[in-house]
Amino acid sequence: MPRPSSRTYHDPLHGAITLDGADPTEALLIQLIDTPAFQRLRRIRQLGPASLTFHGAEGSRFTHSLGVMYVARRIFDRLTARYPVLQQHRTVTLCAALLHDLGHGPFSHTSEEIFQSSHEFWTRRILRESPEIRGYLNAVSPSLADQIAQVYLKQSPVPLISQLITSQLDCDRLDYLMRDSYFTGASYGKLDLDRIVLALDYDPVTQQLVVARKGLAAIEHYLVVRYFMYAQVYNHPKNIAASWILERILHRARQLLGRLPIDVTLLAWLTKPNESLTLKEYLKADDGLLMYHFQQWSDYEDDILSDLCRRYCDRNLFKTKSISALSDAARQSIFSKARTLLRQQGFNPDYYLTVQTSTTRGYTLYQKGINLLSDQGICELSELSPLVQTLTQPSHRAWLIYPREIEPQLWAD
Ligand code: CA
Repeated sequence: MPRPSSRTYHDPLHGAITLDGADPTEALLIQLIDTPAFQRLRRIRQLGPASLTFHGAEGSRFTHSLGVMYVARRIFDRLTARYPVLQQHRTVTLCAALLHDLGHGPFSHTSEEIFQSSHEFWTRRILRESPEIRGYLNAVSPSLADQIAQVYLKQSPVPLISQLITSQLDCDRLDYLMRDSYFTGASYGKLDLDRIVLALDYDPVTQQLVVARKGLAAIEHYLVVRYFMYAQVYNHPKNIAASWILERILHRARQLLGRLPIDVTLLAWLTKPNESLTLKEYLKADDGLLMYHFQQWSDYEDDILSDLCRRYCDRNLFKTKSISALSDAARQSIFSKARTLLRQQGFNPDYYLTVQTSTTRGYTLYQKGINLLSDQGICELSELSPLVQTLTQPSHRAWLIYPREIEPQLWAD
Protein backbone atom coordinates (compact mmCIF):
# COMPACT_ATOMS: atom_id res chain seq x y z
CA MET A 1 0.00 0.00 0.00
CA PRO A 2 1.45 3.40 -0.88
CA ARG A 3 2.32 5.59 2.09
CA PRO A 4 0.07 8.58 2.53
CA SER A 5 1.80 11.82 1.68
CA SER A 6 2.32 14.60 4.21
CA ARG A 7 -0.64 16.62 5.43
CA THR A 8 -0.98 20.11 6.85
CA TYR A 9 -3.84 21.43 9.00
CA HIS A 10 -3.88 25.18 9.46
CA ASP A 11 -4.96 25.92 12.99
CA PRO A 12 -5.92 29.43 14.17
CA LEU A 13 -4.03 28.88 17.45
CA HIS A 14 -1.09 26.68 16.64
CA GLY A 15 -0.43 27.67 13.03
CA ALA A 16 0.44 24.96 10.50
CA ILE A 17 0.22 21.46 11.98
CA THR A 18 2.12 19.27 9.52
CA LEU A 19 2.11 15.48 9.66
CA ASP A 20 5.01 13.83 7.86
CA GLY A 21 3.80 10.88 5.77
CA ALA A 22 7.32 9.43 5.73
CA ASP A 23 7.29 9.09 9.52
CA PRO A 24 5.48 5.82 10.39
CA THR A 25 3.76 7.27 13.47
CA GLU A 26 2.58 10.38 11.65
CA ALA A 27 1.45 8.31 8.64
CA LEU A 28 -0.70 6.33 11.08
CA LEU A 29 -2.13 9.58 12.50
CA ILE A 30 -3.15 10.64 8.98
CA GLN A 31 -4.91 7.29 8.46
CA LEU A 32 -6.73 7.63 11.80
CA ILE A 33 -7.84 11.19 11.03
CA ASP A 34 -9.38 9.99 7.76
CA THR A 35 -11.59 7.33 9.40
CA PRO A 36 -15.37 7.98 9.56
CA ALA A 37 -15.33 7.74 13.39
CA PHE A 38 -12.78 10.55 13.62
CA GLN A 39 -14.35 12.70 10.88
CA ARG A 40 -17.59 12.49 12.86
CA LEU A 41 -15.97 14.79 15.44
CA ARG A 42 -16.34 17.65 12.93
CA ARG A 43 -20.08 17.41 13.63
CA ILE A 44 -19.82 17.72 17.40
CA ARG A 45 -19.36 21.15 18.92
CA GLN A 46 -16.58 21.39 21.46
CA LEU A 47 -18.62 23.52 23.85
CA GLY A 48 -22.09 22.15 23.13
CA PRO A 49 -24.83 24.76 23.66
CA ALA A 50 -22.29 27.39 24.85
CA SER A 51 -22.26 28.82 21.32
CA LEU A 52 -25.64 30.32 22.24
CA THR A 53 -23.86 32.34 24.94
CA PHE A 54 -20.51 32.91 23.22
CA HIS A 55 -21.29 33.10 19.53
CA GLY A 56 -17.69 32.42 18.48
CA ALA A 57 -17.61 29.09 20.32
CA GLU A 58 -18.52 27.03 17.28
CA GLY A 59 -15.35 24.95 17.08
CA SER A 60 -15.59 21.18 16.91
CA ARG A 61 -14.06 18.24 18.74
CA PHE A 62 -12.17 17.56 15.49
CA THR A 63 -10.26 20.84 15.70
CA HIS A 64 -9.55 20.38 19.41
CA SER A 65 -8.36 16.79 18.94
CA LEU A 66 -5.83 17.86 16.31
CA GLY A 67 -4.69 20.60 18.71
CA VAL A 68 -4.16 18.14 21.57
CA MET A 69 -2.11 15.92 19.26
CA TYR A 70 -0.02 18.96 18.25
CA VAL A 71 0.62 20.04 21.85
CA ALA A 72 1.47 16.45 22.84
CA ARG A 73 3.92 16.12 19.96
CA ARG A 74 5.59 19.39 20.87
CA ILE A 75 6.08 18.45 24.52
CA PHE A 76 6.91 14.81 23.84
CA ASP A 77 9.51 15.50 21.14
CA ARG A 78 11.20 18.10 23.34
CA LEU A 79 11.42 15.64 26.25
CA THR A 80 12.59 12.83 23.95
CA ALA A 81 15.47 14.96 22.68
CA ARG A 82 16.77 14.94 26.26
CA TYR A 83 15.63 11.44 27.21
CA PRO A 84 15.88 9.24 24.08
CA VAL A 85 14.58 6.26 26.07
CA LEU A 86 11.10 7.80 25.69
CA GLN A 87 11.16 7.52 21.88
CA GLN A 88 9.63 4.00 21.95
CA HIS A 89 6.42 5.51 23.42
CA ARG A 90 5.89 8.13 20.71
CA THR A 91 3.26 6.20 18.70
CA VAL A 92 1.07 5.36 21.68
CA THR A 93 1.36 8.91 23.07
CA LEU A 94 0.41 10.71 19.87
CA CYS A 95 -2.39 8.26 19.01
CA ALA A 96 -3.78 8.60 22.54
CA ALA A 97 -3.69 12.40 22.22
CA LEU A 98 -5.41 12.39 18.83
CA LEU A 99 -8.13 9.88 19.76
CA HIS A 100 -8.86 10.93 23.36
CA ASP A 101 -12.26 12.52 22.53
CA LEU A 102 -13.38 9.96 19.95
CA GLY A 103 -16.29 8.91 22.18
CA HIS A 104 -17.98 12.29 22.59
CA GLY A 105 -21.69 12.39 21.74
CA PRO A 106 -24.00 15.21 20.56
CA PHE A 107 -23.27 18.57 22.24
CA SER A 108 -20.27 17.02 24.02
CA HIS A 109 -20.66 17.03 27.82
CA THR A 110 -24.31 18.06 27.70
CA SER A 111 -25.37 14.75 26.19
CA GLU A 112 -23.32 12.90 28.78
CA GLU A 113 -25.52 14.47 31.44
CA ILE A 114 -28.77 13.94 29.56
CA PHE A 115 -28.18 10.34 28.46
CA GLN A 116 -25.98 9.24 31.41
CA SER A 117 -23.34 8.49 28.85
CA SER A 118 -19.57 8.47 29.33
CA HIS A 119 -17.32 9.60 26.49
CA GLU A 120 -14.41 7.68 28.03
CA PHE A 121 -16.42 4.46 27.87
CA TRP A 122 -17.23 5.10 24.20
CA THR A 123 -13.68 6.10 23.29
CA ARG A 124 -12.45 2.74 24.56
CA ARG A 125 -15.26 0.92 22.79
CA ILE A 126 -14.61 2.65 19.45
CA LEU A 127 -10.91 1.76 19.77
CA ARG A 128 -11.91 -1.88 20.22
CA GLU A 129 -14.81 -2.16 17.81
CA SER A 130 -14.40 0.31 14.94
CA PRO A 131 -13.11 -1.84 12.05
CA GLU A 132 -11.15 1.02 10.45
CA ILE A 133 -9.52 2.33 13.61
CA ARG A 134 -8.82 -1.11 15.02
CA GLY A 135 -7.46 -2.20 11.64
CA TYR A 136 -4.94 0.65 11.34
CA LEU A 137 -3.79 0.23 14.95
CA ASN A 138 -3.46 -3.55 14.62
CA ALA A 139 -1.39 -3.14 11.47
CA VAL A 140 1.23 -1.38 13.60
CA SER A 141 0.93 -3.63 16.65
CA PRO A 142 -1.82 -5.97 17.89
CA SER A 143 -1.44 -4.46 21.38
CA LEU A 144 -1.55 -0.79 20.35
CA ALA A 145 -5.31 -0.32 20.92
CA ASP A 146 -4.96 -1.76 24.44
CA GLN A 147 -1.93 0.41 25.18
CA ILE A 148 -3.90 3.51 24.17
CA ALA A 149 -6.82 2.45 26.39
CA GLN A 150 -4.32 2.03 29.27
CA VAL A 151 -3.23 5.66 28.81
CA TYR A 152 -6.80 6.86 29.39
CA LEU A 153 -7.13 4.63 32.46
CA LYS A 154 -3.92 6.18 33.88
CA GLN A 155 -2.27 2.76 33.73
CA SER A 156 0.59 3.39 31.32
CA PRO A 157 3.76 1.51 32.29
CA VAL A 158 5.49 4.92 32.11
CA PRO A 159 3.34 7.36 34.16
CA LEU A 160 4.53 10.32 32.03
CA ILE A 161 2.50 9.06 29.06
CA SER A 162 -0.82 9.01 30.96
CA GLN A 163 0.04 12.33 32.63
CA LEU A 164 0.53 14.02 29.25
CA ILE A 165 -2.96 12.97 28.15
CA THR A 166 -5.03 12.91 31.34
CA SER A 167 -3.90 14.73 34.48
CA GLN A 168 -4.17 18.13 36.18
CA LEU A 169 -1.73 19.52 33.64
CA ASP A 170 -2.24 17.67 30.37
CA CYS A 171 -2.24 18.44 26.67
CA ASP A 172 -6.04 18.17 26.59
CA ARG A 173 -6.52 20.99 29.11
CA LEU A 174 -3.76 23.10 27.55
CA ASP A 175 -5.43 22.97 24.15
CA TYR A 176 -9.02 23.46 25.30
CA LEU A 177 -8.21 26.38 27.59
CA MET A 178 -6.28 28.15 24.81
CA ARG A 179 -8.91 27.34 22.22
CA ASP A 180 -11.99 28.10 24.28
CA SER A 181 -10.64 31.43 25.53
CA TYR A 182 -9.72 32.41 21.97
CA PHE A 183 -13.12 31.52 20.51
CA THR A 184 -15.18 32.92 23.39
CA GLY A 185 -13.17 36.16 23.33
CA ALA A 186 -12.15 35.71 26.99
CA SER A 187 -8.80 37.50 26.97
CA TYR A 188 -8.12 36.68 30.61
CA GLY A 189 -7.97 33.04 29.51
CA LYS A 190 -4.91 33.52 27.33
CA LEU A 191 -2.33 30.87 28.18
CA ASP A 192 1.40 31.19 27.67
CA LEU A 193 1.97 27.81 26.01
CA ASP A 194 5.63 28.48 25.23
CA ARG A 195 6.48 29.07 28.87
CA ILE A 196 4.48 26.04 29.99
CA VAL A 197 6.23 23.79 27.47
CA LEU A 198 9.60 25.06 28.72
CA ALA A 199 8.57 24.45 32.34
CA LEU A 200 7.76 20.77 31.79
CA ASP A 201 10.34 18.10 32.44
CA TYR A 202 10.66 14.34 32.88
CA ASP A 203 11.95 12.69 36.03
CA PRO A 204 13.73 9.50 34.93
CA VAL A 205 13.67 8.03 38.46
CA THR A 206 9.90 8.09 38.99
CA GLN A 207 9.18 8.30 35.21
CA GLN A 208 6.78 11.16 35.89
CA LEU A 209 5.95 14.50 34.35
CA VAL A 210 7.37 17.25 36.57
CA VAL A 211 7.47 21.04 36.60
CA ALA A 212 10.87 22.69 37.03
CA ARG A 213 11.05 25.11 39.97
CA LYS A 214 11.66 28.03 37.63
CA GLY A 215 8.44 27.19 35.78
CA LEU A 216 6.24 27.66 38.85
CA ALA A 217 4.82 31.05 37.76
CA ALA A 218 3.78 29.73 34.32
CA ILE A 219 1.90 26.85 35.97
CA GLU A 220 0.28 29.13 38.57
CA HIS A 221 -0.94 31.31 35.71
CA TYR A 222 -2.35 28.25 33.94
CA LEU A 223 -4.32 27.27 37.07
CA VAL A 224 -5.69 30.80 37.52
CA VAL A 225 -6.78 30.81 33.86
CA ARG A 226 -8.47 27.48 34.38
CA TYR A 227 -10.31 28.83 37.41
CA PHE A 228 -11.59 31.87 35.50
CA MET A 229 -12.62 29.85 32.47
CA TYR A 230 -14.75 27.54 34.62
CA ALA A 231 -16.30 30.40 36.57
CA GLN A 232 -16.92 32.73 33.61
CA VAL A 233 -17.36 30.49 30.57
CA TYR A 234 -18.04 26.80 31.26
CA ASN A 235 -20.37 27.49 34.21
CA HIS A 236 -21.97 30.60 32.70
CA PRO A 237 -25.63 30.62 33.78
CA LYS A 238 -26.85 30.94 30.16
CA ASN A 239 -25.07 27.67 29.33
CA ILE A 240 -26.71 26.05 32.31
CA ALA A 241 -30.12 27.32 31.14
CA ALA A 242 -29.53 26.15 27.54
CA SER A 243 -28.43 22.69 28.70
CA TRP A 244 -31.52 22.43 30.86
CA ILE A 245 -33.82 23.22 27.92
CA LEU A 246 -32.11 20.45 25.94
CA GLU A 247 -32.68 18.05 28.80
CA ARG A 248 -36.35 19.05 29.07
CA ILE A 249 -36.91 18.71 25.30
CA LEU A 250 -35.62 15.15 25.34
CA HIS A 251 -37.54 14.36 28.52
CA ARG A 252 -40.77 15.59 26.87
CA ALA A 253 -39.97 13.66 23.69
CA ARG A 254 -39.69 10.46 25.75
CA GLN A 255 -43.21 11.05 27.11
CA LEU A 256 -44.57 11.35 23.57
CA LEU A 257 -42.87 8.31 22.00
CA GLY A 258 -45.21 6.22 19.90
CA ARG A 259 -46.80 9.10 18.03
CA LEU A 260 -43.92 11.59 17.82
CA PRO A 261 -42.03 11.67 14.48
CA ILE A 262 -38.50 10.45 15.23
CA ASP A 263 -35.71 8.67 13.36
CA VAL A 264 -34.38 5.24 14.34
CA THR A 265 -31.11 6.53 15.80
CA LEU A 266 -32.62 9.05 18.19
CA LEU A 267 -35.32 6.52 19.08
CA ALA A 268 -32.60 4.07 20.12
CA TRP A 269 -30.86 6.79 22.19
CA LEU A 270 -34.13 7.65 23.96
CA THR A 271 -35.20 4.10 24.70
CA LYS A 272 -32.06 2.05 25.41
CA PRO A 273 -29.57 2.33 28.27
CA ASN A 274 -26.71 4.31 26.70
CA GLU A 275 -24.06 1.63 27.10
CA SER A 276 -26.23 -0.96 25.34
CA LEU A 277 -26.41 1.04 22.09
CA THR A 278 -24.69 -0.61 19.14
CA LEU A 279 -21.55 1.09 17.87
CA LYS A 280 -23.45 2.10 14.73
CA GLU A 281 -26.29 3.65 16.74
CA TYR A 282 -23.82 5.58 18.84
CA LEU A 283 -21.73 6.91 15.96
CA LYS A 284 -24.78 7.97 13.93
CA ALA A 285 -25.70 10.59 16.53
CA ASP A 286 -24.26 14.09 16.30
CA ASP A 287 -25.34 17.71 16.85
CA GLY A 288 -27.06 17.76 13.45
CA LEU A 289 -29.28 14.80 14.31
CA LEU A 290 -30.61 16.57 17.41
CA MET A 291 -30.99 19.95 15.71
CA TYR A 292 -32.93 18.30 12.85
CA HIS A 293 -35.41 16.88 15.35
CA PHE A 294 -35.70 20.16 17.26
CA GLN A 295 -36.59 21.94 14.03
CA GLN A 296 -39.17 19.28 13.12
CA TRP A 297 -40.69 19.29 16.58
CA SER A 298 -40.99 23.09 16.58
CA ASP A 299 -44.25 22.59 14.70
CA TYR A 300 -45.43 19.49 16.55
CA GLU A 301 -48.89 19.44 18.12
CA ASP A 302 -47.66 19.14 21.72
CA ASP A 303 -47.48 22.71 23.07
CA ILE A 304 -44.68 22.07 25.54
CA LEU A 305 -42.40 20.23 23.13
CA SER A 306 -42.91 22.65 20.25
CA ASP A 307 -42.45 25.70 22.47
CA LEU A 308 -39.23 24.38 24.06
CA CYS A 309 -37.82 23.46 20.62
CA ARG A 310 -38.59 26.93 19.24
CA ARG A 311 -36.98 28.53 22.27
CA TYR A 312 -33.81 26.51 21.74
CA CYS A 313 -33.63 26.98 17.94
CA ASP A 314 -34.41 30.72 18.14
CA ARG A 315 -32.29 31.28 21.25
CA ASN A 316 -35.17 32.51 23.32
CA LEU A 317 -33.50 31.11 26.42
CA PHE A 318 -34.79 31.19 29.97
CA LYS A 319 -33.77 33.93 32.37
CA THR A 320 -31.21 33.07 35.04
CA LYS A 321 -31.00 34.76 38.40
CA SER A 322 -28.37 34.02 41.00
CA ILE A 323 -29.91 32.88 44.28
CA SER A 324 -26.57 31.86 45.82
CA ALA A 325 -26.83 34.52 48.53
CA LEU A 326 -30.42 33.66 49.52
CA SER A 327 -31.29 31.57 52.56
CA ASP A 328 -33.05 28.26 52.01
CA ALA A 329 -36.33 29.83 53.12
CA ALA A 330 -35.92 32.76 50.72
CA ARG A 331 -35.10 30.38 47.86
CA GLN A 332 -38.17 28.30 48.63
CA SER A 333 -40.33 31.41 48.74
CA ILE A 334 -39.22 32.78 45.34
CA PHE A 335 -39.48 29.29 43.84
CA SER A 336 -43.10 28.96 45.03
CA LYS A 337 -43.94 32.42 43.73
CA ALA A 338 -42.47 31.54 40.32
CA ARG A 339 -44.48 28.34 40.23
CA THR A 340 -47.72 30.16 40.99
CA LEU A 341 -47.04 32.78 38.31
CA LEU A 342 -46.27 30.10 35.73
CA ARG A 343 -49.49 28.22 36.48
CA GLN A 344 -51.48 31.45 36.17
CA GLN A 345 -49.98 32.01 32.72
CA GLY A 346 -50.59 28.44 31.56
CA PHE A 347 -47.01 27.10 31.79
CA ASN A 348 -46.26 23.68 33.28
CA PRO A 349 -43.63 24.39 36.00
CA ASP A 350 -42.04 20.95 35.49
CA TYR A 351 -40.76 22.22 32.14
CA TYR A 352 -40.34 25.93 32.82
CA LEU A 353 -38.83 26.26 36.29
CA THR A 354 -35.77 24.85 37.99
CA VAL A 355 -32.94 25.59 40.38
CA GLN A 356 -29.56 24.56 38.99
CA THR A 357 -26.26 24.59 40.83
CA SER A 358 -22.67 24.75 39.61
CA THR A 359 -19.37 24.04 41.33
CA THR A 360 -16.12 25.60 40.18
CA ARG A 361 -12.92 23.85 41.17
CA GLY A 362 -9.66 25.62 40.46
CA TYR A 363 -7.37 22.83 41.51
CA THR A 364 -8.04 19.48 43.03
CA LEU A 365 -5.68 17.12 44.80
CA TYR A 366 -8.03 14.28 43.89
CA GLN A 367 -5.97 11.42 42.48
CA LYS A 368 -2.77 13.32 41.80
CA GLY A 369 -1.90 16.97 41.55
CA ILE A 370 1.05 18.51 39.75
CA ASN A 371 4.61 17.44 40.62
CA LEU A 372 7.06 20.23 41.27
CA LEU A 373 10.78 19.48 41.13
CA SER A 374 12.30 21.43 44.04
CA ASP A 375 15.68 21.32 45.78
CA GLN A 376 14.17 18.81 48.22
CA GLY A 377 13.01 16.51 45.42
CA ILE A 378 9.50 16.10 44.00
CA CYS A 379 6.67 17.75 45.91
CA GLU A 380 3.05 18.59 45.27
CA LEU A 381 2.63 22.04 43.66
CA SER A 382 0.26 23.40 46.33
CA GLU A 383 2.89 22.76 49.04
CA LEU A 384 5.09 25.47 47.57
CA SER A 385 2.45 27.81 46.18
CA PRO A 386 0.13 29.78 48.49
CA LEU A 387 -1.75 30.94 45.36
CA VAL A 388 -2.54 27.36 44.34
CA GLN A 389 -3.69 26.59 47.90
CA THR A 390 -6.38 29.24 47.62
CA LEU A 391 -7.55 27.65 44.36
CA THR A 392 -8.29 24.31 46.01
CA GLN A 393 -11.45 25.78 47.58
CA PRO A 394 -14.45 24.92 45.40
CA SER A 395 -17.06 27.65 44.92
CA HIS A 396 -20.75 26.81 44.66
CA ARG A 397 -23.41 28.87 42.94
CA ALA A 398 -27.16 28.41 42.53
CA TRP A 399 -29.43 29.79 39.81
CA LEU A 400 -33.18 30.15 39.46
CA ILE A 401 -34.17 29.48 35.84
CA TYR A 402 -37.54 30.59 34.44
CA PRO A 403 -39.09 32.07 31.26
CA ARG A 404 -38.94 35.83 30.72
CA GLU A 405 -42.75 35.93 30.62
CA ILE A 406 -42.93 35.96 34.43
CA GLU A 407 -39.94 38.26 34.96
CA PRO A 408 -41.77 41.51 35.82
CA GLN A 409 -44.13 39.99 38.41
CA LEU A 410 -41.55 37.64 39.93
CA TRP A 411 -39.37 40.39 41.36
CA ALA A 412 -42.17 42.89 42.09
CA ASP A 413 -43.02 43.33 45.80
CA1 CA B 1 -10.59 16.87 25.26
